[in-house]
Amino acid sequence: MALITITGYPSSGKSRRAVQIKEHLDKHLQDSTYAGPSLKVSILSDELLNIETKAYNDSRSEKPARGALFTAMQRQMGQDTILIVDSLNYIKGFRYQMYCAARELKLRMCTVYVVATPELSKEWNEARQDGRTYAPETLANLIQRYEEPSSMDRWDSPLFTIPWTDDDVPADPIWQAVTAGNVKPPNTGT
Ligand code: ADP
Repeated sequence: MALITITGYPSSGKSRRAVQIKEHLDKHLQDSTYAGPSLKVSILSDELLNIETKAYNDSRSEKPARGALFTAMQRQMGQDTILIVDSLNYIKGFRYQMYCAARELKLRMCTVYVVATPELSKEWNEARQDGRTYAPETLANLIQRYEEPSSMDRWDSPLFTIPWTDDDVPADPIWQAVTAGNVKPPNTGT
């Protein structure tokens, strides 16, 4: 049905946003006004694939990690699923590849850019308690190499940019983007 690609710096809050998006989408799907097909919302992440943050320490280990993510994504994409891919997804060419795979299946797509400053990413990275802290030099390197998404590129579009200062995600526009508003209009009584 749809693919939602999350992108952003390491430890910028991507997983937190992925969960927020899933909660909103689940709520929409359970709403009595929803008239579309039965769908499930799934999150795919490095963590779920047991890809450790040290995989990003060098390109030799990063490549197979990206391959594993792509394979899992292809396996989980489908007409009955809204799949949220929660990973760095920082390479433009990789986002293009994901876009092509989704388009082949005629899935709807959007990109969510989770924005935090480099300083905050560093701070949150160091404070992590979940064993998913990136090595300081890896974090610096990934931030430096980060390829920012652009709404001008069709593979990043539509693009939703969420700054760290926002408490919540733009749930309704994301819902519209992935379902084309597959919802009955409210009964106005006219
Ligand atoms: P990512 O998926 O980008 O690696 P996470 O969502 O796992 O990031 O968050 C990384 C760490 O930063 C977590 O410990 C989380 O609690 C913290 N964090 C994320 N967003 C915020 C925020 N807006 N304010 C404070 N801490 C945050």
